[in-house]
Order: sequence, then structure tokens, then C-alpha cells
Amino acid sequence: MRLDYFTFAFTGLLIAVLMGGAMLVSARHSKDGAALGWWGAGYLTNALAIGLFAIRGSVTEAAVIIGANALLLSGSAFIWCGLRRFEGRPESFWVGPLAVLVWLGLCAVPAFYASIAARVIVASLLAALLSAMWAFELWRGRDERLPSRRPLMVVAALHATCMVVRIGFAIDGHLPSIEGSVDVSHVSQAVDLSMVFFAVIGGLLLVSMSKERAERVQRDIARVDGLTGVLNRGTFTAEGGRLLATARRAGTSVALVVFDIDRFKRINDTFGHPTGDRVIRRFAACATESLREGDMLGRIGGEEFAVLLAGAAPQEAMAVAERIRTAFAVATREHDGPAATTVSGGVACARAQDADLADLMMQADRALYRAKRMGRDRIVADTTIVPIGPTTEAGAAPVRPRPDSVA
Ligand code: GH3
Ligand code: MG
Ligand code: MG
Repeated sequence: MRLDYFTFAFTGLLIAVLMGGAMLVSARHSKDGAALGWWGAGYLTNALAIGLFAIRGSVTEAAVIIGANALLLSGSAFIWCGLRRFEGRPESFWVGPLAVLVWLGLCAVPAFYASIAARVIVASLLAALLSAMWAFELWRGRDERLPSRRPLMVVAALHATCMVVRIGFAIDGHLPSIEGSVDVSHVSQAVDLSMVFFAVIGGLLLVSMSKERAERVQRDIARVDGLTGVLNRGTFTAEGGRLLATARRAGTSVALVVFDIDRFKRINDTFGHPTGDRVIRRFAACATESLREGDMLGRIGGEEFAVLLAGAAPQEAMAVAERIRTAFAVATREHDGPAATTVSGGVACARAQDADLADLMMQADRALYRAKRMGRDRIVADTTIVPIGPTTEAGAAPVRPRPDSVA
């Protein structure tokens, strides 16, 4: 199949302009505006390059060869800068100018400029390096799981590979067609055409990656408590129910600890709300640090928190609660000066098949009240705890890791 060279170039130009324009428009409303701005600038710069190819014949051949390749390299470097910004790293302004300088410097050498093969090899090598740099940035940010990230990495890697294949063809003497048509059935020219495909797919994936991040941020905002960053009450209840269902299927035990910061009202009244907020955040940080992956922490009230521990026996739950109580006591004493306080906790445990979040919450609350009545700054286990083990019996003795922690 043969494609008319100018129709092909014009189509490429149209696509690049539309994509670049769409990116710049969405940059205005996006938190990733800087990244989208760079990507938009990259696509529009590429559009200029394709425009030069499209008007081949009307301008000098040197303007097309030197200018279009310099623009393509700049566009690619802009897209890389956008990826850096997207991943939260500073863009490096030297990459684009360096690639362009290498290209222009070599074009100033007559022997190089006269050799189409040499030009194709160097331009392809620089383009391959830049595409590999795109893939590398995406790979470095892989901890943030976005559905479009991996496909985009593949597209960037394939683009780099095609550029390397192009170098192979150039060494073998297969050079890009600049005649009136492009022969798609010819492998070396099909590789050239694949660049348009990568540009379209890559552009769509860049935009959807930024949309996916925006959606994830929105979801996170709805899930977590704004002050502390831990789960809010609604999410804790919903996800806690799911965690219990999983534990039920696995037949494991579950434990719930409810914490309430002691004499918190005094902190607000004496030092003001901002200090109170700081103490709340301090507790959330201490609790988060003391938990394992898979445990669930939520802020269920003003200065009340709950922790759901899947697979934890009563003794373990008491140990975790004690660890949090101690960590908070140490941290608040160290950082909060006269506003330092303590925390009380109530623990409830159940076998997963009997566990109901509302029941556990009630039992843990009951234990918490006892902790408060006993003078605060302690963890108390609910007396109806069913110890997990072969001799289990409802109403058996509570777990008492600290002799003074139960009534
Ligand atoms: P106890 O030891 O019995 O728990 O005493 P307490 O003073 O901690 O108990 P109380 O429940 O009376 O006080 C809780 C206070 O927490 C009342 C409320 O004004 C305050 N509070 C609730 N939400 C917030 C918040 O987001 N920030 C701040 N600074 N204070 C809050
Ligand atoms: Mg309270
Ligand atoms: Mg309190």
C-alpha cells in the first residue's frame, strides 16, 4: 500500500495540533497543569516539525532537514520535561538544547550533512535516547499505580526500539522515502509510519494518566479525614466491614481497638484549637507508625480513633494498643510541651465468624469507658472477650497484660 507523502504529513500535522491544543486547554484546569503544559508544547513543537515536512519543496531542503529534526528533538525533550513534572521532579532545561546542539553541530560538518544515512542514524539515536528517558521516568514513578502508566511505558519503549531498528535499516542502506509516496508494505517505511501511531496512542495515554491521577486524588479526598489523613468514619466502617468479611472467609480472628485522647477539651480550652488539631495529628501519626500493613486506622470522632486488626489474637491486640499508647505518650511529651496529654484505649476481640463491626465497636467502647473511669492513660480489654484457642469459652477471663489495666 502506498500513501501520498503530503496527505500523510498533513494528517500527522492535524493530529499533533489537535492533541497539543487539547493538552494545553486541559492544563488550565488540572493540578498537573505544568506537566500538561509541557506535553502540549511538545506536541505543538512536533506539529511545527511535521509542518516543515508538509511544505517540503516550498522551503529550502536544508530548512526541512535541519529544522524539522531540531524541532522533533525539542518536542521530545519537552514531553520528557512534562513527565519529570508529572512525577514531581524538577524539569531539566539542558536536555532539549543539548540534543539540538549536538544535531546542529553535526549538521555544520559538510561530510555529515551530505550523508543521509549519517543523518538518519544520529537523529534516530537521539530520538531513541529521549524516548528511553520517557520510559525511565514513568518506571521510576511506578509506585503510583495508574492504569495508563504501564501501556505508556510500553509505547515509549517501543518507540525507542523502532528508532534503533531505523538505525539498522539506515546502516543497511534502507533510507526514508522523501519521494511522492510512502510505501507501507516496505518494512523500513512502515517503521517510520509507526511513529504517527505512537504519537497518537502516547498522547491519549498522557492525557488519561493525568485524568486517572485527578480521579484518584478525588477518591482519596472522599476516603480520608482531612485533618489527619487516616480513613474517615464512613470509609472505616465500610472497609472494616469488608475486612471482617475477608477474615470470616479465612476463619481468622479480628480485634478492634478504640482510642480516645485524654482530657482533650482542656487542650482546646487552654491552648486553642490549632494546638488541639496538632495533638490529634500527632496521635494519628503515632498510630500509623505502630501498625502493620493490612491493619486499618480510622478517625471515628473528634479525638477518637479506631484500629481494626485482622488475624490478631487478644494478646496481640493488647500489645499493639499498648505500643500506640506508649508511642503517643513519648511523642506528645517530646513535642507538645504543656499541651502534652495521654490516650486511653478499649480492646474487643472476636472469632471472625462471630464478628460484627457494630458489636465490636460497642464492646471496645465499653472497655474504653472503663479505662477512663480507672484514671485514663491505659488500655483495657473488654470482659466479654472470647479468647482464641482450644479451650475457648464465652465469658472467659479477659486478657490482662497490665495488672492495673482492668477493673
Ligand atoms: P476524656 O479524657 O474524658 O476523653 O476528656 P475529653 O476532654 O477528651 O473529652 P470530650 O469528649 O469532652 O472532649 C472532646 C473535645 O474534642 C470536644 C471537642 O470540642 C473537641 N474536638 C472535636 N473535634 C475536634 C477537632 O477536629 N479539632 C479540635 N481541636 N478539637 C476537636
Ligand atoms: Mg471523646
Ligand atoms: Mg477524650
